[in-house]
Amino acid sequence: MTTTTDIAAALASGGIRIVDLTNTLSADTPTLRLPDPFSNLIDFSIEEVSAYNEPGPFWKHHNIHTGEHIGTHIDAPVHWISGREGHDVASIPPARLIGPAAVLDITEKVEADNDYLLTIDDIKAWEAEHGALPKNGWLLLRTGWDKFADDREAFLNADETGSHTPGITAEAAKWLAEETEISGFGVETVGIDAGRGAELDPPFAAHYHLLGNDKYGITSLQNLAELPPTGAVIVVAPLPIVGGTGSPTRVYALVNA
Ligand code: MN
Repeated sequence: MTTTTDIAAALASGGIRIVDLTNTLSADTPTLRLPDPFSNLIDFSIEEVSAYNEPGPFWKHHNIHTGEHIGTHIDAPVHWISGREGHDVASIPPARLIGPAAVLDITEKVEADNDYLLTIDDIKAWEAEHGALPKNGWLLLRTGWDKFADDREAFLNADETGSHTPGITAEAAKWLAEETEISGFGVETVGIDAGRGAELDPPFAAHYHLLGNDKYGITSLQNLAELPPTGAVIVVAPLPIVGGTGSPTRVYALVNA
């Protein structure tokens, strides 16, 4: 039997390495921009309260100001109308937040078409090669979009017709939500729906189906290129905000070296 002692030994020896999948939080972190007439969250900011000076001569501390859905973050079921009776971010069971990662790479398709949407056929092709999506696992969609993570304009890729970023079809989102036992779906883009997700039926179908079926979303992931298609374990650690619909979240992957 593998024990936590084995894992600790493997971490110490380098047999298991940790990949940080998280974007840093600052005022420059790219964030979702909803069109009029919808209201946007505030960006992340930091406010000095003291810095080893009169308000606090021996210490430095800050207030932080942030929306819930900022940077690398989790979407809890109550974020969406379809999941309104479900878990808030504080009540998501921790057992659902640590599990096997299934990494599906559509980078080439996205290079050819920034609006590419993951299909059921794409997922079935992945499963034919790597096995069924794992129970309590996370499907992580590698698109190459993390290369834009430090460039707000390129990350959102908006023009007069809207934002052009990849995502998932309504059919595939429904299938993931209803026919698999995954915990959630992670993406490198600003939201779990595509930039043009409003045009799907239902609108923002990934949010609608996944959050409505007690599955969770993670956005703005990085470094998925360092993960194998199977075999990594991810650790998703949101803040337990009572009543929260989401939270900036640290996400690590444990990978066999
Ligand atoms: Mn969100």
